[in-house]
Amino acid sequence: MENHVKLYNPGVEAYPKTEIFLSNILMILWIALGTIACWLMHPLIGWLYFAFATKMVFLVLRKMVCTNCYYYAKWCSTGWGKLSCAFFKKGKIENFKTSTGIKIAPVAYGLLALVPLTLLMISLIQQYTTFKLAVLALLLSVSVYCGAISRKKACADCKMNTICPGSAA
Ligand code: SF4
Repeated sequence: MENHVKLYNPGVEAYPKTEIFLSNILMILWIALGTIACWLMHPLIGWLYFAFATKMVFLVLRKMVCTNCYYYAKWCSTGWGKLSCAFFKKGKIENFKTSTGIKIAPVAYGLLALVPLTLLMISLIQQYTTFKLAVLALLLSVSVYCGAISRKKACADCKMNTICPGSAA
């Protein structure tokens, strides 16, 4: 099935477990900080953000994106190919590029970053506290690191980087 698409041959077959562990810790930290940021605006918004983020990141996108990926059932940079395999049936790699999941993924990650950042800044303007400022600094750092720095490195070694529209390589 993989023969129908042109993969990046020098890409890694399996990413190191330490890299996979770190990327999941950072994702959990991102969701936790985003939840705190939304919670500071209103506890209900915090719960809604937490439910949306965990469902999108660990279930919806894993079904809509990873089932069509070369790394389905393999250790990709996040290990989510394995996660996807544990819950969902394999899809078709030919559908990866045009799938709905690939189209909604940037919107979902954009919302996960921008909603808590915006709410936290409004909350800071309304009432300044050092705690809010610390959450903002951490959230910005984690978002930039996950969304740009570590993503660029992971995409550079990814076999899907020749066909993935979201590749940062
Ligand atoms: S490389 Fe990306 S799309 Fe492929 S299985 Fe891993 S997380 Fe999913």
